[in-house]
Amino acid sequence: MLTIHDIKVWDTGERIDLIVDDADPARSLVEPGAKASGDIDGSALIVAPGLADPHVHFRDPGQTAKETMRTGAAAAAAGGYTRVLVMPNTIPAADGRDIEVQEAGAGGDQLRKVGVRNTLDYLQRYEQLHGVRLPVRYDLTVCASIGRAGKLPTHPADYVRFMEHPAGTASPADADAEDGNANDEAVREHPLRAISDDGSAITEAILDGVLADAKATGLPVLEHCEHHDSGAINEGAVSKKLGIEGIPSSTELAIVERDIEAARRTGAHIHFQHVSTVDAFDAIRRAKAEGLPVTCETAPHYLALCDEDILKYGAMAKMNPPLRSEADRRATIAAVADGTVDMIATDHAPHTAAEKQAGLADAPNGIIGLECAYGVCRKVLVESGAINDERLIELMALAPERLMGHTPTDVATLLNNSAACATKRVLDLRQVEHPETVDLTLIDTGRRWTVDSSSFHSKGRNTPFDGWELTGRPVATVIGSKLVYSRLAAQ
Ligand SMILES: [Zn+2]
Repeated sequence: MLTIHDIKVWDTGERIDLIVDDADPARSLVEPGAKASGDIDGSALIVAPGLADPHVHFRDPGQTAKETMRTGAAAAAAGGYTRVLVMPNTIPAADGRDIEVQEAGAGGDQLRKVGVRNTLDYLQRYEQLHGVRLPVRYDLTVCASIGRAGKLPTHPADYVRFMEHPAGTASPADADAEDGNANDEAVREHPLRAISDDGSAITEAILDGVLADAKATGLPVLEHCEHHDSGAINEGAVSKKLGIEGIPSSTELAIVERDIEAARRTGAHIHFQHVSTVDAFDAIRRAKAEGLPVTCETAPHYLALCDEDILKYGAMAKMNPPLRSEADRRATIAAVADGTVDMIATDHAPHTAAEKQAGLADAPNGIIGLECAYGVCRKVLVESGAINDERLIELMALAPERLMGHTPTDVATLLNNSAACATKRVLDLRQVEHPETVDLTLIDTGRRWTVDSSSFHSKGRNTPFDGWELTGRPVATVIGSKLVYSRLAAQ
């Protein structure tokens, strides 16, 4: 049992004592020197609903030198996340087809070894297949196109059985019963929650077909909203100075405008991933004012960095979409402040050191983000005065949790339902009505720390934020009322 005294409830400001059930040793991750039981002074901490990230790449199956489900999950827990949404650009791609009929690559052998024929099945049953419990909840995404090749839309018949509540059926059992799949628990624990060709925009040829499937299945479409056939960094003074072919910012607006029209035409929910430019934010702002079913996210790096930072960080600051101009960076912060941005996603994208050393033109796109996202966002958004601490929790916990179809934990309601009014209330998570649903992040908002990627749980070290001094760090996560991660009382 762990009792955290005098912890502040993130939104009401009330001070409470929080009692958390014993950590499950098979699932929990406790940093060296950290506490997982006993009594702790929580007066410097807030308790908030668990952070949720709607955009991570865990590279498993197929590219496990970059990351695995285990290392990615550990990185998420250490960053304060209780749930993540896994993108489908694995190898083989998570398009619902069996490996016999697709380009399976190295991941095909991985799947055969554990006796599954399909990437979605592999991911859904990962814990069971490997005899592990991961310290974060995760949901799944299916590709929009077969093989993520942009030519033909994926078939709902291939993927609805991986959904918790496929449209038109009462429960997952209905969908599973037909093919005799006794996999209900895995479906419930790691359901398919969205459709995306992330890494590429959905092609014009299949867009209407994908949106029709999205409407029929009830899944949102997550759009990687930019397209370019060449270029490595943002087009502008920096690309000219370095002599590297640039990517115009209009590549983002073109897809955003196309999809806003598609949302108007079809009524399907389109969520724009990692939006990064002035003009795209303006278009989304107008679409939302019109009441169209669009939402959007941005990522910490578009708030904290611009293309001038490439001169300092090189390939560690190369991602897709690229870091844009300083004016775009400021517009991104303004779009967060005025509510155009619904949520913050990390786009956690691990690569090996060797890959990132290939130089700016040739290195792969992407940076890791899970283990420093909260601190980076707090520095850029809260310390600058653009938003307050409560809004940051809404952006990093409530909104992404809802996008994935979940109800975020409401600490105030738990307190009202379980604790009689006294001078100081006690929330005992062992006594609440549905303990299995309670996911929390404990954050030391005043903790000063220096980003040191060598201490990360991720396999990736590809971050431009190494050495950054930040204030504010998640120190524990609770899933299903049990402690799963702790750096409490450790440095
Ligand atoms: Zn993307």
